[in-house]
Amino acid sequence: MSTPEKLVCELCGSSNTSRSRYARWDIDTQKWEVTDLSDYTWCSACDNEITGEWLPLELKDIAKFAIKKENEDGIPK
Ligand SMILES: [Zn+2]
Repeated sequence: MSTPEKLVCELCGSSNTSRSRYARWDIDTQKWEVTDLSDYTWCSACDNEITGEWLPLELKDIAKFAIKKENEDGIPK
């Protein structure tokens, strides 16, 4: 596994960032088909369109990440 990282806002430093994608309504499958066409990144903390910076997770983030992963793997708390 590669080093866990986070995308942070270069304007306010928040990791509350989102990447949007386009979805196309497919008549045949009757489902939204998500495409990868959009490269639009958004910071929810300061409400700006951002480029974003990838940073390695800090120790406390890695701990949270590991706990979350453990829970997803079905290991009891
Ligand atoms: Zn921001």
